[in-house]
Parts: sequence; structure tokens; C-alpha cells
Amino acid sequence: MAGKTKRHELIVACGTCEGFGIIRDPSDSSVGVVCAGCSGKGFTLLSYQPFTGRRKMDGIKRVRRSGQGIPTFSSRLSKNDVGVSYADFLKGKSP
Ligand SMILES: [Zn+2]
Repeated sequence: MAGKTKRHELIVACGTCEGFGIIRDPSDSSVGVVCAGCSGKGFTLLSYQPFTGRRKMDGIKRVRRSGQGIPTFSSRLSKNDVGVSYADFLKGKSP
């Protein structure tokens, strides 16, 4: 399957309860309350995609910086004046 990337999973301690599976009841410190973040398991699955080099996005012709706006039809700029070509970007050129 071309272009399909495999996601990996890590079992990590729950960020809400820090692995306890419970949080201390604020009104009675001798009571544990089942953590809503992990349902008491103490862990969550972290899904991530390893980086194996910058990927190429289909259908892209030009690359521009954000916040430059998009030229309108009345603009004197043509689409080809905005940013850099995608081919140049992939070679390392910055828009
Ligand atoms: Zn938890």
C-alpha cells in the first residue's frame, strides 16, 4: 500500500492519575475515585507515527508560508509568484 503509514502504539501511564488508576477523593483522602481518564486501568495507549523522512503530498504544486494570504483575481500576483514550487521545497528551498 503506497503512501500508507503504519501507526505504532505505546502503553503509557495515564496522564490524569499518573498510573494509579485512581485519584484521591478531595473530600476524603482515604477514598480513591476511579480515574475517568483510564477507567481505573492506570495506562492509556499512545498512538504515534514514527518519522522516517518528510513525506510527499499528492497534488501540491506550490508551497507558501502561512499568514501571507491568498492572492485574489484582482491581485497583480499570479499563483506562480506565491511561495516556491513544491519541487523546490522538497529540495530544501524555503518559501
Ligand atoms: Zn488514569
